[in-house]
Amino acid sequence: MLNPEPGFRPAPASRRARVLIVGLDGVRWDIAAEDSVAPALQRLAADGAFHTMTMEVPTISAPGWASLLTGTTHAEHGLVDNSCVGGRTWNCPDVLSQCFYQDQSTRTYAAAGWPVLTDPNGLGPIIHPRVEQQKAGLHRIVSRDGETYGYRTIDAELTDFTLAALKGGTFDVGFTYCCDVDDAGHVHGLTGPEYREALGRVDAHTQRLAAALTQRHLQFQEDWLLIVTTDHGHIDAGGHGGDSPKETQSWAITWSPSGHTPEWEEHLQPESLAGRILAHRDS
Ligand SMILES: [Zn+2]
Repeated sequence: MLNPEPGFRPAPASRRARVLIVGLDGVRWDIAAEDSVAPALQRLAADGAFHTMTMEVPTISAPGWASLLTGTTHAEHGLVDNSCVGGRTWNCPDVLSQCFYQDQSTRTYAAAGWPVLTDPNGLGPIIHPRVEQQKAGLHRIVSRDGETYGYRTIDAELTDFTLAALKGGTFDVGFTYCCDVDDAGHVHGLTGPEYREALGRVDAHTQRLAAALTQRHLQFQEDWLLIVTTDHGHIDAGGHGGDSPKETQSWAITWSPSGHTPEWEEHLQPESLAGRILAHRDS
């Protein structure tokens, strides 16, 4: 055991790699890569692996996250906008559910401030509630309403929840989400300081999560893969949905405190991510 830290507790042993997905809505990498805008993301990309993705049109959040999180195309999941009308996501289990179906000892966790992702009373949710697993202590959802209360506050609160869950060793595969950057893009556009300041805030959230994974790796020798990704870009004036390269561009960082990341191609199909996570858990 190396440098035990108070608050960190052991988890049940698992032969499978553990995975944390950090979803950062609407982050354009060319801006995240600017000097001092997102130093933690830049470091994770440099120390791990950086992959590009091209999102399907319309480049809207619900269809985009559904492709990334369920492993299906727009044609398959049926989402065309954020109303989720016509969607078939009940037939398209999210990657947390798929990891549970792969191995029913898998404990899953999701935290999001956008109700479409996790709120069972919302328009989705894209991440299935799986009430039976919640009752069995195998699935946990922390859902907040960032649309009403503001993502700057809600992202920070949810990051704290996820950190507490990580310290407690309470999940094997998790998803945690921040929307501050996308919100800043819509309100202020991408040319001024606001988008970059929001990027700095979610960068700090991601850094705290990565540090907790490092601590778990050092203290309990756990094998963790961190995946940080986004669902679309933005035009410079703020906004997305179209087929311009600035809107369709996406990316995924893989990073592990062990230093070993999976051998994935440099350019990924968004709908391939879920299957890749399952294969990584099975390797
Ligand atoms: Zn989005």
